[in-house]
Amino acid sequence: MRLTRPLVLAALLALVPASAAELKLRILSTTDIHMNLVDYDFVRDEPDESIGLNRTAALIAEARKENPNSILVDAGDLLQGSPMGDVVARVKPLTGDEVHPAYAAMDLLGYDAAAIGNHEFNFGLDLLERAQLGRKFPILAANAYRANADGSAGENLFPPSVLLTRKFKDESGAEREVKIGVIGVLPPQIMNWDKDKLTGKLVTSDAVEAVEREVPKLKEQGADLIVVVAHAGISAAPRQGGDENFAYYIGKVEGVDAIVTGHSHRVFPGKDYDTLAGADLKRGTIDGKPYVMAGSFGSHLGVIDIVLDDASGKWAIKDSHAEARPVATKGEDGKMKARLPADAAITELVKPWTEATLAYIRAPIGEAKGPFNTYLALLGDTAALRLVADAQTAYVQKMVKGTEYEGLPLLSAAAPFRVGGRPGPDYYTDVKAGPIAIKDAADLYIYPNMLTVVKLKGSEVREYLEKAARLFNRIDPAKTEPQALIGNMPAYNFDVLFGLTYAIDVTQPLRYGREAAIEDPNAHRISDIKYNGEPLKDDGDYLVITNNYRANGGGEFPRMDGTAIALVAPETNRDILVDYIREKKDITPDNTPVWRFVPVQGDPDMRIEIGPGGAALAGADPRLTKVETNETGFDVYRVKLSQ
Ligand code: MN
Ligand code: MG
Repeated sequence: MRLTRPLVLAALLALVPASAAELKLRILSTTDIHMNLVDYDFVRDEPDESIGLNRTAALIAEARKENPNSILVDAGDLLQGSPMGDVVARVKPLTGDEVHPAYAAMDLLGYDAAAIGNHEFNFGLDLLERAQLGRKFPILAANAYRANADGSAGENLFPPSVLLTRKFKDESGAEREVKIGVIGVLPPQIMNWDKDKLTGKLVTSDAVEAVEREVPKLKEQGADLIVVVAHAGISAAPRQGGDENFAYYIGKVEGVDAIVTGHSHRVFPGKDYDTLAGADLKRGTIDGKPYVMAGSFGSHLGVIDIVLDDASGKWAIKDSHAEARPVATKGEDGKMKARLPADAAITELVKPWTEATLAYIRAPIGEAKGPFNTYLALLGDTAALRLVADAQTAYVQKMVKGTEYEGLPLLSAAAPFRVGGRPGPDYYTDVKAGPIAIKDAADLYIYPNMLTVVKLKGSEVREYLEKAARLFNRIDPAKTEPQALIGNMPAYNFDVLFGLTYAIDVTQPLRYGREAAIEDPNAHRISDIKYNGEPLKDDGDYLVITNNYRANGGGEFPRMDGTAIALVAPETNRDILVDYIREKKDITPDNTPVWRFVPVQGDPDMRIEIGPGGAALAGADPRLTKVETNETGFDVYRVKLSQ
């Protein structure tokens, strides 16, 4: 029999399954919001267009408009961080059936699921459980369990996973069902970081193994694809078991299709990962699987696009792409400018909490019994740096208890972050006598670094100080023309090591240049290093308290390539400072020198620039004589270091 043309066509069409089509699915994500629900920096008490869930919300709306086949997830570290988190937890605790503002905002945005981060546990389990009241989206944690009486793992604290059954439109316009399995996992290290609050109450386990257990269960329930939301960074370091930054290995689990990460406050795909094994930063994949990390504080929206195809009879992934979209970019004036207006509904919803937080950050946390400033920090004043160093030391003394590091000499590094230079003559830390508020703590420690402890030999401590002493130019005592005392190095790299005393000889050549390697092996500017009045022991072990920036290579200090790290605190140096001031209440400035200049012989004309805010202090310093006010607004002084 001969078929007519229309019949041939009909017969051919009948061979193709009625469902055969492509479907474009989008997984949107946020991470490490840290209670930045609005675009305001509550530490510095100023608007910041580059952060805030109300800013990310605008990107969420835009991305959903581009593709309505979207789900939205969050990777944790939500409830703690900005001062608003402290306000909800401690200052104005939730009452009655009041919903936590973070969850209220997320429900307004229609989140589908979220993982839980390590910082969720910082206020203790009771507060965390109360915060869950009234939340509508599921929170997932496949590797956290309540502890049984014998210390073994009991029931899951949160459900390990959820199966989202969603109706989406395929490319032909037909409505189709897609079942998305979502698994949440967290760093098992919460048991160390919040030991005091969680011991006996919780148990954690390896995250990768937990995912391996969940995947078959979701497949059995009919999951078409599986997304893992991991509160973890991406590191190709070999698996140890119980790893903190395990996300790299989640993609190696069979059946996992897409990975949403966080915890490191970085951006994937992004330049931080250009050397990562298997990473394709153009496609946003690692070994072919899509990954995303959406920065922190709402700075980015993670977007994973997946093309599904069911020509085989079931949904299969045909292609994928991932990107992290920033809410703001740097404008010509150097300020961060958001591309879209903030989401007014979120701003409005959170408003009572914003107002309570503003009152909180402006209220005193302690009392300064004198000024803490950095006008003379490059000439040896220590009060502002000592306050930071003391807070770090007090924290680490508790942190090392019961560890292999207990009893080792503790040195605490602090640098003058705000000390004139290129940012201008007003750029100094300047906390005046009187009440101290949280925003003053931000003046004392402007960066959101994490406290990090490195273990060094005494000989390495010496090299560390030599590197910091690169701040000073080499002075020729015989020269009569003016010589700038401060060289071309950012002063935030001038670490002062509290716990030691030492001398710096600026007439000696520089031992280090820009890089971490010794430049002039014969050069020595540092001498007379003492710990507790005793000479530094070259082969002795010392703990140096610093921050994640320095410990991982910031400023290119010798040995600071990450391999010397002994401990990383789950807190920022600044939060540690805030808690320290709150506890001590009265803070008295102490300018006892840590380091001193080796007297410079002869009468060289050394010069230093100091902002006009430091005029009174400089006027009272017998080493300084004012020469002029220069065209950039700095006062220029002649420095005498003859004794
Ligand atoms: Mn975080
Ligand atoms: Mg975290």
